[in-house]
Amino acid sequence: MQRTPIHTLGTEAGCRLFVKREDLLPFSFGGNKARKAELFFQELAKEGADCVVTYGSSSSNHCRVVSNKAASLGMPCWIISPEEASERTSNLALMELFEAKIETVPVDCVHDTIEARLALLKSEGRKPYFIAGGGHGNLGTQAYVDCYDEIRDYERREGIHFDYIFHASGTGTTQAGLICGRLLAGDEREIIGISIARKAPRGRDVVLQSVRDYLGEGARASEEAIQAATRFVDDYTGDGYAVANREITATIHRVMRQYGLPLDPTYTGKAFTGMIDYLTKNRISEKNVLFIHTGGTPLFFDGLK
Ligand SMILES: *Cc1c(COP(=O)(O)O)cnc(C)c1O
Repeated sequence: MQRTPIHTLGTEAGCRLFVKREDLLPFSFGGNKARKAELFFQELAKEGADCVVTYGSSSSNHCRVVSNKAASLGMPCWIISPEEASERTSNLALMELFEAKIETVPVDCVHDTIEARLALLKSEGRKPYFIAGGGHGNLGTQAYVDCYDEIRDYERREGIHFDYIFHASGTGTTQAGLICGRLLAGDEREIIGISIARKAPRGRDVVLQSVRDYLGEGARASEEAIQAATRFVDDYTGDGYAVANREITATIHRVMRQYGLPLDPTYTGKAFTGMIDYLTKNRISEKNVLFIHTGGTPLFFDGLK
């Protein structure tokens, strides 16, 4: 996996702010879905699969990256998509460019449609590889354990310590990977997932379960340690998935003007806004803070319209 750069951004809420540019991963506008897809497609190749099935909304970065990967390999890709979230977006236009076979169904039918599609493909003698929405699962978690190790390498090289890491939390896999990386390394710092849609306790429970799933039965960390390490903030979900509010939109515009850094209304704009507010409200200052830019560049342009 190619390393992504970390650079200083400036002073925000009295803290030294750094950003890790996952959005600069070299495939398909990058982002955390590109880091996860790398591992899924390695496994797919090992299993000798010949087509891909996944699911997500029309604004899904995951579906864009996966269908792009499949197209680059000349492999058919099915995307099951809920009709409740099927507005025209740049990501949808890209999925069409990659000739993904998009099946739009009511959200209640997504699960059964996936099962039916997988069964049909197998009955035709194909070997489908299924990827959970958002790249959720232990492989997706692994991608962000790897990212955490990159952050530690950077700290060692540069002689710096990040006191806080902030990022957007959706399916929770990115957060789970960072937490697992931290627990396995025995590091002290706060990793704060800013939820972009889900509310606690459910959203936090999903992160906790992903951490437990990855660490496994061997109890490489105690339940107390896992609980203490899982900081899930649900105050900045805007008006729901894929919807910003005025404060988030203002932050996106300011950050683009001031730093030339694109944030989007669905994910990174919420996380960045939440981070500044969290630091301010908790009177945290003079700390080294790392923001993980998890990608979503096509959504930045949708947000400008
Ligand atoms: C999917 C996504 C997230 C959330 O990642 P999870 O691992 O699902 O929590 C954050 N930012 C962007 C840009 C994303 O596409």
